[in-house]
Amino acid sequence: EVGPLNVVAVECAADPRARRLPRVPGLPDDVFEHDGQITKREVRALTVSSLAPEPGELLWDVGAGSGSVGIEWSRADPACRAVAVEPRADRAGRIGRNALALGVPELRVVTGSAPGALAGLPEPDAVFVGGGVTADGVLPACWAALRPGGRLVVNAVTLESEVLVARWHGEVGGTLTRVSVGRAGPVGGFTGWRQAMPVTQWVAVK
Ligand code: SAH
Repeated sequence: EVGPLNVVAVECAADPRARRLPRVPGLPDDVFEHDGQITKREVRALTVSSLAPEPGELLWDVGAGSGSVGIEWSRADPACRAVAVEPRADRAGRIGRNALALGVPELRVVTGSAPGALAGLPEPDAVFVGGGVTADGVLPACWAALRPGGRLVVNAVTLESEVLVARWHGEVGGTLTRVSVGRAGPVGGFTGWRQAMPVTQWVAVK
């Protein structure tokens, strides 16, 4: 059977810059169509690891951007399912194209803002909040919807979202981790580090 994933693999094999697409999370950023709003490879690998997908489980990817987190969750196992929630129509379209190109066409895209767009979605086993953390009612809605034993993972980049995450961590516990990724690149004729904004990741089990 030649599914979308096989098509990608064949195209890559014919490409001199051949790309492998393993199912382990942390695919290169540039295999996703994106506009700069994407959870970078190293942080994405950590994020999917924290979400801890198991076969048959459902993820809500809230503030899905390019869809990279929901897509890597879905690729972890053919039985993993994900709903991507993204208010911007251009990004929602991109999520659909990325899902198709990366072999998970069944990923569901909801175009709308949380918390409103979350109403009526099936109960998640895990929720990732990568955008809209500071929007009124988003964290309460995600926490309330999560099934007992489910995982909530929130990545905060701004001080405002960090404040919220710190407050929630104080109330319900979990772990707070801060990651700061540097990538080497050309500096004049030399090589130097370019540091991405640090990401504070809160993981809580309900
Ligand atoms: N994890 C994504 C990047 C997220 S960028 C990826 O890897 O591609 C944050 C996204 O959150 C943006 O696309 C923004 O449009 C979206 N967003 C902002 N407020 C939101 C809200 N209230 N509900 C849902 N999404 C929201």
